[in-house]
Amino acid sequence: MQKTIAVIKGDGIGPEIVEQALQVLQAVAQKFGHTFVYNQVLLGGAAIDATGEAMPQATLDACLAADAVLLGAVGGPKWENLPGDKRPEKGLLALRKGLGLYANLRPARLFSALAAASPLRADIAAAGIDFLVVRELIGGVYFGEHSTAMVNGEKKATDVMSYAEDEVERIVRTAFTIAMGRRKKVTSVDKANVLDTSRLWREVAEKIAAEYPEVTYENMLVDNAAMQIVKNPAQFDVMVTENMFGDILSDEASMITGSIGMIPSASLGEGTRGLYEPIHGSAPDIAGQDKANPVGTILSAAMLLRHSFNMQAEAAAIEAAVDKALAQNLRTGDMMSEGCVLVGCAKMGSTIAALI
Ligand code: NAD
Repeated sequence: MQKTIAVIKGDGIGPEIVEQALQVLQAVAQKFGHTFVYNQVLLGGAAIDATGEAMPQATLDACLAADAVLLGAVGGPKWENLPGDKRPEKGLLALRKGLGLYANLRPARLFSALAAASPLRADIAAAGIDFLVVRELIGGVYFGEHSTAMVNGEKKATDVMSYAEDEVERIVRTAFTIAMGRRKKVTSVDKANVLDTSRLWREVAEKIAAEYPEVTYENMLVDNAAMQIVKNPAQFDVMVTENMFGDILSDEASMITGSIGMIPSASLGEGTRGLYEPIHGSAPDIAGQDKANPVGTILSAAMLLRHSFNMQAEAAAIEAAVDKALAQNLRTGDMMSEGCVLVGCAKMGSTIAALI
């Protein structure tokens, strides 16, 4: 198969970690007989330096023309004093919007070799953590009207939260489709005891659930979900929720699996094109020092193969290679523990590539 991947190295540790992910993708291409064509484009700080814009039109065009997009991270102190709408992160928001990406997928998976790195009690971690948070990405309160006005001599701020049926329907459908390829359970998280948007969410989710009789479906209030993630994470398979709840719960879910450097993400829209990136930022404090953990980006490449190219065996090969590298006790600094071997970003990447 031949596929085109738009590659955005980005800022800070971005170039180092993406380099390793590309090496791993090349190993996959060789082993499985595929050709991946990489089209490197600029976004964020690097794009501001080169063109004056955080997301040049040429970048969006190249991403729209590609089969998938792989991104490192953007941003850093160099661009922090720019006005809000000119900053590198705005480029990323504009790209997500330009690509119509409404579903954000974040796996919370505890690698057995890293069980000790989980802040959860050993018996809870031992029950296994392997679930996926599916977050609505371009609606809800983050995209509602925001205003601050003087009312009766004091400031009053308002943020509007709204959801339309079709916005809920498409994200819930994404969750059910993914659950069909997993352990066939969907937990829809809302605050239906208080919010109208949540009551609509629940109504739509229950309608979609009826179309998937094979999938076990449940509703959970967001406050309970926050507790259950630390009390009994093994109960979850696919969790689907609105933008702000998903923002918070997906961070909680990633923390229980250890280092932030390990966690990939996917953002999907209509069709198969998606944007794949680790959940962490550009880590300017360790950039250029060969200290970054490339695994989050490498696992993002695995998600890219699975969700955009439907290459299940290839994705599994990357995940198995990561497992093996961890079982060999190789660790970057962020996940180092006693008795393990400290390696740099490049060594971690080349080891995983060699294990494909
Ligand atoms: P960060 O995720 O970059 O770093 C937080 C801490 O985690 C740092 O100590 C860093 O060294 C460490 N860390 C992060 N990724 C790591 C990895 N792969 N290996 C080892 N250690 C790692 O968050 P921050 O410091 O708040 O933000 C830094 C910059 O990144 C800011 O400009 C921010 O706006 C930007 N940012 C970008 C994205 C993105 O591109 N999606 C996301 C978050 C933050």
